[in-house]
Amino acid sequence: MNCQPKVLMIYTGGTIGMVNDFHTGELKAFDFNHIYSHVPELKELNISLTSESFDQPIDSSEITIKDWELIGEIIVKNYDDYDGFVILHGSDTMAYTASALSFMLQGLKKPIILTGSQLPIGTIRTDGKENLFTAIEIAAKKGDDGEPLVQEVAVYFEYSLYRGNRSSKISANQFEAFKSPNFTRLAVAGINIDYKIEHLFRTKKEKLEFFPSFSNEIALLKLYSGINFSFYKHLFDSKNIKAIVLETFGSGNAPSDQVLHQLLTDYIHQGGIVLNVTQCQSGSVVQGKYETSSFFKKIGVIPGADITTEAALTKLMYLLGKNYTTEEIKQLLQKSLVGEMTL
Ligand code: ASP
Repeated sequence: MNCQPKVLMIYTGGTIGMVNDFHTGELKAFDFNHIYSHVPELKELNISLTSESFDQPIDSSEITIKDWELIGEIIVKNYDDYDGFVILHGSDTMAYTASALSFMLQGLKKPIILTGSQLPIGTIRTDGKENLFTAIEIAAKKGDDGEPLVQEVAVYFEYSLYRGNRSSKISANQFEAFKSPNFTRLAVAGINIDYKIEHLFRTKKEKLEFFPSFSNEIALLKLYSGINFSFYKHLFDSKNIKAIVLETFGSGNAPSDQVLHQLLTDYIHQGGIVLNVTQCQSGSVVQGKYETSSFFKKIGVIPGADITTEAALTKLMYLLGKNYTTEEIKQLLQKSLVGEMTL
């Protein structure tokens, strides 16, 4: 009997799956069915690996809601047959996909680990091999009770495992490309992999639930000093844009600008939802702490606590896709559904 843990790798695209073409010198995606010839060390892992690949691997900037659905469908179809899943994905939008999957696939009892690399796996100084091997090891890891140790969507990059919906890409060129500024790392890889057991997410749901229909009737408005709000009037149209994520200053502050105040008041009055997140890399929104955020509290802007922008946007897409009422969405935005915020 083969008792090796079984891991399914899903290759969506990105730098990790690229090699140098000897003839042209260009980087191009290799056929993932031939992964063993590019990374023969995978055979030494004592893990049974299977791979599936997008028909046309894509740069992660091209990822859409349809691709999240496709990844979700592949996982649901194979959920019972594997101990864990590794998704190979470009790093640029990995935090969005990780956040989206955490809302899309609830009740997880198995790991879904996203990884990628800054240098192609076929280059000498690649970070891709370590990222790939350790992500696979984490996806296969069992706890003392024989159950998968990690039971959530996570991002593994450069010796660190992060909760997916807490992660953000922070560097375009460093190997240490991710951080989860408001939540501790779930594991740190050194000679051993040191898991922070008490911080691993555990679902209260009995079974896996799959919610693939996301709605993108939302907008993101980042404040900046000197902003002319009249230019943004078209955003505050609740018929087309059901919710707006407002990236504010510091702990949730905005200028006391009459145009902004009027736009927000009317928009919320018409049933629009506004979620206040900070544009700082870390920390939390506390509405009412300063005079410059008291107005938000008064008119019903929802404080996003320490949620990342990536998680805020995908949470809204998920909630709007589920056809909740506006009131229900406002309530759920203030709850942590899958560990995405600290309350
Ligand atoms: N542009 C690439 C992508 O996100 C970068 C990477 O693979 O990390 O698909």
